[in-house]
Amino acid sequence: HAMSTAPSPLNGLEGKVALITGGAAGIGEYAAKVFSKHGAKVVIADIQDDFGQSVCKEIGTSLASYVHCDVTNESHVQNVVDSTMSQYGKLDIMFNNAGIAGMSKPNILDITESEFKEILGVNLIGPFLCTKHAARVMIPAKRGTIINHASISSTIGGAASHAYVSSKHGVLGLTKNTAVELGNHGIRVNCLSPYVVSTPMTRSFFKLDDEGIAKVYSNLKGAKCTLEDVAEAALFLASDDSKFISGHNLVVDGGFTIM
Ligand code: NAD
Repeated sequence: HAMSTAPSPLNGLEGKVALITGGAAGIGEYAAKVFSKHGAKVVIADIQDDFGQSVCKEIGTSLASYVHCDVTNESHVQNVVDSTMSQYGKLDIMFNNAGIAGMSKPNILDITESEFKEILGVNLIGPFLCTKHAARVMIPAKRGTIINHASISSTIGGAASHAYVSSKHGVLGLTKNTAVELGNHGIRVNCLSPYVVSTPMTRSFFKLDDEGIAKVYSNLKGAKCTLEDVAEAALFLASDDSKFISGHNLVVDGGFTIM
């Protein structure tokens, strides 16, 4: 067979339904807009109700809806998955994006048990609960794609707090284990590991403004991570372009973690 020389058209998200946790701000907000621009119906699950609702208005209320959901609360997670099913009849893409960085405390002696548990709760138990309830509706459908927002802190230490690094290493483990199990049901599970990009989370963690965050990139020899870089990578994992990719950690860091 002669190989076609025509470039293969990229798959969009036409007709797909995506649930994005933490979609009221930062990368999740940007991803919600990108997913919807590529044809997906989007449900935003967050605890910042005003921001979440205004993101939906910006996208268009026929294309996006908002549901209050604290990802650490299983009944909230169950509810947002069920309301997505009753509104759209299916769930194709689960983007477990909600996460917190906590405070910068380099000295372990300063960290309290409750601070550590709070970060593990949102960053690791959250994706566990969201994966569990997404799987509940994806298994009967025999399809679906789950994206966990990991980080460069999933493979290296030192870039963030102890709890954050621990939680993000955990997200990588959760991704691998669920990819093996859910692969038997036609469901792909991957994670996304970006470098530092300017969002409310990083501006507050580093106590820097947009410009200051850009200077954090100086050791990347001019390469800079943008919201678009991260959202486009999420779009790839969400779409059928990545249909044979599962259990993968898609690192979006301009080569930072290999240096
Ligand atoms: P952000 O603070 O700008 O946005 C996070 C959103 O999650 C907010 O809208 C917040 O209300 C929501 N959220 C927080 N706790 C929640 C909870 N319990 N339930 C539901 N929603 C909750 O943060 P961001 O920088 O956009 O981060 C998004 C994800 O990307 C996080 O998982 C983060 O760890 C990851 N990440 C970010 C960067 C970065 O540089 N910004 C780098 C690597 C990974």
